[in-house]
Amino acid sequence: MQDIGRGGGGNNSYGEASIADPLQLDESRFKVYVVHKILSKETEKAVELVCQRNHVKTPSLRIGGVPKGHKKALGVYSVASNSVAFRDQDQFFNPFVVLHELYHCIRSKTGTHKGTEKNADRFAISFIEEYNKFVNSISQKLSTHSIDVD
Ligand SMILES: [Zn+2]
Repeated sequence: MQDIGRGGGGNNSYGEASIADPLQLDESRFKVYVVHKILSKETEKAVELVCQRNHVKTPSLRIGGVPKGHKKALGVYSVASNSVAFRDQDQFFNPFVVLHELYHCIRSKTGTHKGTEKNADRFAISFIEEYNKFVNSISQKLSTHSIDVD
């Protein structure tokens, strides 16, 4: 019997064969790629890449189980367990929330403190800005003037 159920291997996604190693991408393309991954519901992969790039251990991720005392938080990073708890599935696939929490993760390993909330926001926004720039550059290319084709 053929193994039809797995659909040709879990990790190999079609259409991205050209990106052999995303860690080799330059800074802005890497950011675009990471946001794209999160929007493609591959948050785990995105988190792994950002952590590898920053030489920190990848945190464990879970949906739900946000600790008490963080009633309004969309995500919470715990240094002790190196884990991120997301409020719900929407936050798990929200690039801003994911990257904000990742900043705390990176800071807790490489810095002496966890970094401020403002810096975590800036970190997340820098990824999203690169993504938006990329999207804009594509849509401009697609929507330019017509050419004379016979
Ligand atoms: Zn925060």
